[in-house]
Amino acid sequence: MDPTTDTDMTVPAHSRYVIIGAGIHGLSTGWHLATELRRRGLGGGEDILILDKTGVGAGASGIACGVIRNNYFQPAMRELMAHSVSVWESDPEAFAYSPVGYMQIAPEEMHHDVAKIFAEQQAIGYPSALIEGERDCRAYLLDMFGDWQARGISVILHEEKGGYANNVRSLKGLAAKAAAEGVRIMPNVRVAGLDTSGGAVTAVDTDRGQVRCDQLVIAAGPWIRDLWAMLDLPAQIPVARPGSPATEPEELQGSRPMWTYWALQEGTLAVDPGEFTDNQVRRSCTSIPARRSTTTSPATSSPTGCGGSTTSPTSTSAGSRAGPRPTSSIARPARWRWTRTARPAPSTR
Ligand SMILES: Cc1cc2nc3c(=O)[nH]c(=O)nc-3n(C[C@H](O)[C@H](O)[C@H](O)COP(=O)(O)OP(=O)(O)OC[C@H]3O[C@@H](n4cnc5c(N)ncnc54)[C@H](O)[C@@H]3O)c2cc1C
Repeated sequence: MDPTTDTDMTVPAHSRYVIIGAGIHGLSTGWHLATELRRRGLGGGEDILILDKTGVGAGASGIACGVIRNNYFQPAMRELMAHSVSVWESDPEAFAYSPVGYMQIAPEEMHHDVAKIFAEQQAIGYPSALIEGERDCRAYLLDMFGDWQARGISVILHEEKGGYANNVRSLKGLAAKAAAEGVRIMPNVRVAGLDTSGGAVTAVDTDRGQVRCDQLVIAAGPWIRDLWAMLDLPAQIPVARPGSPATEPEELQGSRPMWTYWALQEGTLAVDPGEFTDNQVRRSCTSIPARRSTTTSPATSSPTGCGGSTTSPTSTSAGSRAGPRPTSSIARPARWRWTRTARPAPSTR
């Protein structure tokens, strides 16, 4: 059965594991949990039920730009992102993943931060090159894109791994992997309440009836505020003022809403895939950001966007075949080499 079109109107009375949300986190958790239960002889996918009020990829995961990179500024993310990228690489076809690499092309203001990310990547053996100095950067870019125009670039971080994925096809591939493990994915089931006992959730109340559960995973993405409220968790969070002692009484600290939604408004560009190729006419690893603006707005049932991290499916197994086979590896001029302390070979500085 297509896991995205399970139209059975009856929810089971009990499932050991219930996951709310069929985005990348819910599906990945379901798939990975299923394989892990089976590996340990503790059960399998048939113990897992994923519920979604709409369907697979209905939330942020279905509208994400699909950029796969290890380029977030928090050092703690570095190894996690490297692992995530390796999962994308484990089945590019099922995940509709194009491993063309990733380039951060930045002005001097960002030099320090970009160099720091590079150093962290090198420390864990994540292959990347750092090009510094305006002349070297320009030479590097012109080597790759003969018609490169932009000036004022003084640092480039070129990640050999990463690339982009077709978000909806990725999610369908991931759902198929979970379903192949026996995980049941039910669309059109809205969770409206949670029953608790002794501080633990014992059942989820849905518009199609109640499901008792032993463990609950909430992967509701931008709708977390609603689930948070169902758990009777506080709507406000105290925030300490900069420089204030940690012991400052709560009433002197600021109180902020626990959840604030930043709606990232993005446009869509229709681009001929052949337009942005490198000098060897291979698909490029740069992306053209659409004009964007941000606003804060309360969560609605249809978020227009949210920032996020590189998320990934998890684990491997045979699954559906969706999306094209990647046709190119990272596009880089032959005279630049990947080394642990990569620098441009010619001394042009
Ligand atoms: C415009 C945009 C661009 C982005 N670009 C990138 C990118 O290039 N690279 C990257 O790594 N990340 C990107 N992100 C971030 C990334 O998309 C998210 O971090 C990720 O998709 C979140 O996945 P999730 O599974 O947690 O949530 P979601 O995908 O939002 O899934 C949550 C699911 O929960 C369901 N749900 C909610 N409430 C209920 C309920 N009460 N009952 C039942 N079901 C419910 C929803 O229907 C939804 O399907 C982008 C995000 C946006 C919005």
